[in-house]
Amino acid sequence: MTNRIFNFNAGPSILPLAALTEVREEMMNFGGMSILEISHRSKEFDAILAETKQLVIDLMKIPSGYQVLFLTGGASTQFAMIPMNLMDKAADYAVTGYWSKKAVTEAKLFGEVRTAFTSETEKFARCPKASEIKISDNTSYLHITTNNTIYGTEYHEIPNTGNTPLIADMSSDIMCRELDVSRFAMIYAGAQKNIGPAGVTLVIMRDDLVARSYRTLPTMFKYSTHAENNSLYNTPPVFPIYVTRSVLRWIKNSGGITAIEKVNREKAKLIYDAIDTSNFYKGTAASDSRSLMNVTFTLPNDELTEKFISEAKAKGMVGLKGHRALGGVRASIYNAFPLEGVKALVAFMAEFEKKA
Ligand code: PMP
Repeated sequence: MTNRIFNFNAGPSILPLAALTEVREEMMNFGGMSILEISHRSKEFDAILAETKQLVIDLMKIPSGYQVLFLTGGASTQFAMIPMNLMDKAADYAVTGYWSKKAVTEAKLFGEVRTAFTSETEKFARCPKASEIKISDNTSYLHITTNNTIYGTEYHEIPNTGNTPLIADMSSDIMCRELDVSRFAMIYAGAQKNIGPAGVTLVIMRDDLVARSYRTLPTMFKYSTHAENNSLYNTPPVFPIYVTRSVLRWIKNSGGITAIEKVNREKAKLIYDAIDTSNFYKGTAASDSRSLMNVTFTLPNDELTEKFISEAKAKGMVGLKGHRALGGVRASIYNAFPLEGVKALVAFMAEFEKKA
């Protein structure tokens, strides 16, 4: 592909060229069939599922005692499945943006939601320090959103929850940095930002939480169903899982999460430095909560913002418009986003500022 542009979209978003190429080359090559035609009960798909799962385990260094599931319905379905399966009377939620609020809305259908932290009055410009989180008595779990895709904030400290299960929505920062999985009882993520295409949701869940999910619920909505059936209770999203495997292979071949994190930090620093050394661009996230994945900033007015976005587009940089909730510019620089694209953006920022 010679005409590839710099894709700053927030999700679905850029995929590694190596993964796309692998998918293209193998597309028709499954024993006289295409990957799009094979059975989810075939030995070919068994191998794909097993390898994808193993890559998740190896890359994230998941200890034993966890299930790795590939589900459908997006992270949004998890907002409901979590309280449906795991909440007894009440649960704690840290509210750090639009997606945490959506999670709260669903949880309220199943019990009492207690606010462990909120930055709403601060326009969601930051995530809490570990010490700011209040865990209530007899809570079933604490739910956090480790990266707030719209507000460009990310937890720099993972709260210590003791015996309270910690559940994290990592849709927009899964595998972007090294994390100790044993701190979490459950991690979930829609694949479409950092690890694959839209259509599959990764769920990593400790066995004691799976054990809680034997409830009188519709079969498809119970974690136990999917755990017992190795994500094959019904037809899983075969193609998205297959593409995810290629993306995870690329992460592995790039040196794993340690190496990916190093590049992610380098990329984010370039843009944050450009913001910090300018009086023209202003970052919207508090400096102790800045995201490695979504860098959000504003220009002096809407007219300049629009001009910036359209001129960037003409130069082959797309998807920079901030979410309507925040306005401004958002550069989503997920794992697969290349360093050279970040350098192109930073050069354009300097050039645009000079002209304005
Ligand atoms: N959580 C976060 C942090 C997100 O960024 C998104 C999607 N942008 C969602 C949840 C919702 O994901 P989905 O569209 O897969 O339901």
